[in-house]
Amino acid sequence: MPVLPTKLPHTGTTIFTVMSALAAEHGAVNLGQGFPDFGTDPALLQAVTDAMAAGYNQYPPMTGVPALRQAVAAKLNALYGSAYDADRDITITAGGTQGLITAIHACVGAGDEVIIIEPAYDSYDPAIRLAGAVPVGVPMTLDYRLDWDAVRAAVTPRTRALVLNTPHNPSGRIATADDQRELAQIAEQHDLFVVSDEVYEHMVFDGAAHESVARHPGLRERSFLVSSFGKTFHVTGWKVGFVAAPPALSAAFRRLHQYTVFTVHTPTQHAIAAYLADPAPWQGLSGFYQAKRDAFRAAIEGTPLKLLPCEGTYFQTVDYRAVSDKTELEFARWLTTEVGVAAIPLSVFYQQPQERGHVRFCFAKRDETLAKAAQCLQALAGRRA
Ligand code: PMP
Ligand code: GLN
Repeated sequence: MPVLPTKLPHTGTTIFTVMSALAAEHGAVNLGQGFPDFGTDPALLQAVTDAMAAGYNQYPPMTGVPALRQAVAAKLNALYGSAYDADRDITITAGGTQGLITAIHACVGAGDEVIIIEPAYDSYDPAIRLAGAVPVGVPMTLDYRLDWDAVRAAVTPRTRALVLNTPHNPSGRIATADDQRELAQIAEQHDLFVVSDEVYEHMVFDGAAHESVARHPGLRERSFLVSSFGKTFHVTGWKVGFVAAPPALSAAFRRLHQYTVFTVHTPTQHAIAAYLADPAPWQGLSGFYQAKRDAFRAAIEGTPLKLLPCEGTYFQTVDYRAVSDKTELEFARWLTTEVGVAAIPLSVFYQQPQERGHVRFCFAKRDETLAKAAQCLQALAGRRA
């Protein structure tokens, strides 16, 4: 057998797979990996069946089903005051993950540096390395705000792009309009591309607005906006998303997309296109998850876990240092095996692991699941690990 080469010599199995397996093995409530444990709207399921029965089972256009691209463009343009063209600027992808890696490969190459904001969602680093580029981690502030001075200090003549994620996984923070102005100023000054991961665009709480790159003309012209229907419609296993980008960027994106996935599951695209005709499901999403956030926070308020702010996403981060001095990974394992609740350590989202005593819980769960998890977590009172 020849030796297997690897382009990712230091990359192990993703934490989401590791923690879900541990939760299953120990029968723990799985608040680790981010996915809902409830179903989607039966009307959306029916729409997929209907699309298959209607014969939508062959390749759609390489860029995606036209009706879906039109629905996406109409929504983006109405929400963010942008002017994406459905044919030219929107491409349907196999979820956010493919949108991200393809966008990164479309705009960076060997030797380029790409700034990622840490803690950083775990697919950015390998996607950048596979392009032969170098991920440069820039930490957020201690309370998980974007640190633009640190970003400025990290820019070099080799910096080609920056990956932004708002609402932010894992911290639950959101970018502000000021953040977008700072980003635009830096990107324009240094001529950078922006890959904007907005998969949680419809989960923003307490009346705040989602600050999409699409809102800001200076950013929009140099950005790939990445989103995913998996989050918005409670169907993470469907893996359908989209990338919106101006013409030259979309052309570069599609050059790669056509030879990597070519296109995405046809009936699902037709179903989502039809389902998007009613704005109520995505318009109601922030309220839906805000209620879950509030219920979960109230349920664990009395435990020694300190709740950090949650402005968006379906993740709640807590500080466990009143309970344990373990590393975040050790604590997450202990919590899963001994307390019965799986969580995700934040330390895995850094190039140089940080130990701040923080783990993340996913609250995209049925009320009973959250109540059961909270009941387990009550047992932490008076305990040290
Ligand atoms: N970006 C972020 C910040 C995520 O949390 C996720 C995972 N849910 C993705 C991208 C990937 O999305 P998808 O499952 O659609 O590939
Ligand atoms: N995005 C999800 C999370 O942050 C997990 C996605 C995955 O398992 N790859 O938990």
